[in-house]
Amino acid sequence: MNSRPRPGFPVRLDRPAAAAARPASPAAQRSAPATLAPVVGLQRPGWAAPTPQGLGLDSQAVRLAMVKKLAAQGIKEARVLEAMGRVERHRFVDTALATQAYEDTSLPIGLGQTISKPNVVARMIELLLAGRTEPMGRVLEIGTGCGYQAAVLSLLVKEVYSIERLRGLHDKARENLRPLRLPNVHLLFGDGMAGFAQGAPYAGIIAAAGGEAVPQAWIEQLAVGGRLVAPVASAAGGAQALLVLDKTAAGVQHTLLEAVHFVPLKSGIA
Ligand code: SAH
Repeated sequence: MNSRPRPGFPVRLDRPAAAAARPASPAAQRSAPATLAPVVGLQRPGWAAPTPQGLGLDSQAVRLAMVKKLAAQGIKEARVLEAMGRVERHRFVDTALATQAYEDTSLPIGLGQTISKPNVVARMIELLLAGRTEPMGRVLEIGTGCGYQAAVLSLLVKEVYSIERLRGLHDKARENLRPLRLPNVHLLFGDGMAGFAQGAPYAGIIAAAGGEAVPQAWIEQLAVGGRLVAPVASAAGGAQALLVLDKTAAGVQHTLLEAVHFVPLKSGIA
């Protein structure tokens, strides 16, 4: 899916999301920044920056290479690249997969689920934050999985509420995140289809699992002025595309972007 340039943003569609079966037309190819902000030094209070252990590679150097690749692939936001460079992705996958942790690939995290590709994580977060200069307030993540994206988000937004429906993964994320001591990440176990009303309204909602449509609860729990980024089935047959939904005082605005491949959004807990 990264073989062709991604549509630029914002792109406005005048059709509702469900009717927009194909990605918006590609905009001008993005150019990678010539230099990257250093990945060290952006330590927010509470970020433990643990030393990598048991990995036969210089994890900082491989992360920097990953960040350069993300920039070459079109991720522009320096703060997103910086956060991607700070979080040690290899800590979120099984030891046997650690050497693949900085490749642009999704990896199994157990219970049939996957950690999203770095490129997709960066892209979605970039879309979530686009156009904002102030740090975003409270963000709800649907599908904690191994906790990787929650860790990246924690460096960029004020509060992260992340909900997971599989107990095994919720526990795993808790374990993965504990050593990082991120006080602004709140892990929840439950069915994210219902959102998490207690934390609403959210400045941002980001989903790592895709359904037929965006649950109404998410839209209700989104603040006016807030943005939701989620994969949705865009056509019969279930092909997914990335949806950006902006909630304004005048209503919601849908923007459908490139094709993506996420695990299904399921109801209930297990
Ligand atoms: N952000 C994650 C990606 C995990 S994959 C990471 O960085 O690892 C998507 C996750 O969404 C899976 O763990 C899956 O169990 C979860 N999921 C699917 N439907 C859900 C729902 N209704 N509520 C909460 N989590 C859900």
